[in-house]
Amino acid sequence: MDLPARPLPAYLVRRYQGWKATDFAENQAWYRRLADEGQRPRAMVISCCDSRVHVTSIFGAEQGEFFIHRNIANLVPPHQPDGRQHGTSAAVEFAVKALKVAHIIVLGHSHCGGVQGCYDMCSGAAPELEEESSFVGRWMDLLRPGFDALPEGDEAERRRALEFAAVMTSLENLMTFPFVAEAVAEERLALHGLWNDIGDGGLCCYMPDAKAFVPV
Ligand SMILES: [Zn+2]
Repeated sequence: MDLPARPLPAYLVRRYQGWKATDFAENQAWYRRLADEGQRPRAMVISCCDSRVHVTSIFGAEQGEFFIHRNIANLVPPHQPDGRQHGTSAAVEFAVKALKVAHIIVLGHSHCGGVQGCYDMCSGAAPELEEESSFVGRWMDLLRPGFDALPEGDEAERRRALEFAAVMTSLENLMTFPFVAEAVAEERLALHGLWNDIGDGGLCCYMPDAKAFVPV
């Protein structure tokens, strides 16, 4: 069977050629060094796939600085060594064991469609996500306990609280990986929980003492 792969759309070819002639041309030595010496990122970032979350822009990061994994709603599943395929867990394992990153940043965000889907599913408004065949629904099952623990109140506040819960769930689940827990205990690795407001550019960091997300 022929793979159904087509040539790149013209607008992307033009953009690529523009990058090659400018950014790349101006930093050729840096790219060569990255290629020859390999990557040594100090931090892993786990963020949502959402196109509005511009991980490298908000931290002014250069190539080689962040080891980035993105998935729906920036979720890390619990440690589950069952011999099956676990993309997120594989990325965490590689970051901690091979790259020996010093930081893992879980970056949540406002207006998260994945979190909203979870909210709708758990409140009965999205039955299609309850179907066994829904990859999004089964992935968002990771956040069901977060939904069940939401305080009563205003719906907009509850939805926001669930975005925070997605970050906290990931931090808790990260600690179920023995190699993460060990690196944290030995202070070789620090975990951070962040949440980015898409509309106003705000960034909040989870502070355990306050048990709250506090503006950076
Ligand atoms: Zn999202």
